[in-house]
Amino acid sequence: MAAEVLAAGGAQVDLYDAMPSTGRKFLLAGKGGMNITHAEPIEAFVGRYGARGEQVGRWLAGFPPDAVRAWIHALGVATFVGSSGRVFPTDMKAAPLLRAWLHRLREAGVRFHMRHRWTGWRDGKLVFATPDGERLEAAGAVVLALGGASWARLGSDGAWVPLLRGQQVEVAPLVPMNCGFEADWSEHFKSRHAGAPLTTVALALDDDAGRRVFRKGQFVVSASGIEGSLVYALSGQIRERIARDGQATVWIDLLPDHDAARVLEEAARPRGSRSLSSHLQGRLGIAGVKAGLLRECLSKDQFADPQALARALKALPLVLTRPRPIDEAISSGGGVRFDALDGDGGAGMLRALPGVFVAGEMIDWEAPTGGYLLTACFGSGRAAGQGALDWLKRKA
Ligand SMILES: Cc1cc2nc3c(=O)[nH]c(=O)nc-3n(C[C@H](O)[C@H](O)[C@H](O)COP(=O)(O)OP(=O)(O)OC[C@H]3O[C@@H](n4cnc5c(N)ncnc54)[C@H](O)[C@@H]3O)c2cc1C
Repeated sequence: MAAEVLAAGGAQVDLYDAMPSTGRKFLLAGKGGMNITHAEPIEAFVGRYGARGEQVGRWLAGFPPDAVRAWIHALGVATFVGSSGRVFPTDMKAAPLLRAWLHRLREAGVRFHMRHRWTGWRDGKLVFATPDGERLEAAGAVVLALGGASWARLGSDGAWVPLLRGQQVEVAPLVPMNCGFEADWSEHFKSRHAGAPLTTVALALDDDAGRRVFRKGQFVVSASGIEGSLVYALSGQIRERIARDGQATVWIDLLPDHDAARVLEEAARPRGSRSLSSHLQGRLGIAGVKAGLLRECLSKDQFADPQALARALKALPLVLTRPRPIDEAISSGGGVRFDALDGDGGAGMLRALPGVFVAGEMIDWEAPTGGYLLTACFGSGRAAGQGALDWLKRKA
């Protein structure tokens, strides 16, 4: 995006990437159905960036979700809005979009240099490790868009963190976001239920005031814990809670479509000679992984007590012990602090390194899945490109 803005503004752009081809994570994002932005009103959209809403909002003001869609359409790719408001390319894929985009960038004069790993600065020049040895390049302005630290094999490995810290740029530690969490499953539970999806559930984490707001959705039991979209939606808060307290208790509503009174009525209903398990299955549809979770997380006494059982069906406590490793996460939090950016941070220029701009996931903001990640990356890329262009003009 920065390259596009710079080239359109008349700059000669050289784009370097450590990988043999560019946009590998963008392509991976297209594997499960590329969710490129969201159709909700802009106020709600900006709210997804939490404490960084104001800063990210500046990027979005320059390139809002509607502009993202228009930009995709201009590349010859149609989009549609899913039932949840998520926006996808019609074919759900990233490859045709990336192909058209790279073609347009080449036409605009952007020169691509693959297998060029940036390793820092020397004598005011950028240093690259290449298959043909080291290469030094001078640049009028530099935009770094090096990504976070998840899925390192696709290129973004976070190796830039010490390089920027070494230049007095403040960088918050990179942490997993939109990630799974570990739970101490018993061997028995794990062997029977790892991989099982929970499709009608709700999940909550109490806030510091003890408020509990359940969110409906889906997640999956994994061999090590839980993962999936509903878990990712709460992942920032769960991660912070574990960092503070050493663990986090989440609450699972196994019957989000039943009210508590109805659940208690059914759990307490005389069951004659039926076992409790078949009673729960018959009256409330609790079977498979849901039944397994109840057994896993409740004591025998709680399971046998209709009151405790009914409470647990509507709010089953599950202790999470740590996030899964950052490399497995969909995205990472942390990164270059907004305080390290010049002015209001909108253009992404580093205070410590005038003429050097940063963009995308390497900056310290985070968001849930839903197209919010790519949309913020696009907006910040365009803002950095414009900032670099203005910088070049001022210098000329
Ligand atoms: C499985 C998965 C699915 C996702 N799905 C979605 C989705 O549907 N919607 C959504 O909005 N987001 C999604 N995301 C997140 C989204 O892909 C990222 O937030 C986005 O790609 C980040 O863009 P970026 O340009 O900041 O960094 P990246 O896309 O990570 O690009 C960074 C680039 O920098 C290069 N690089 C790094 N270090 C160096 C170096 N030292 N020298 C040279 N080059 C270097 C890398 O090779 C890479 O090409 C998904 C992510 C994953 C992992």
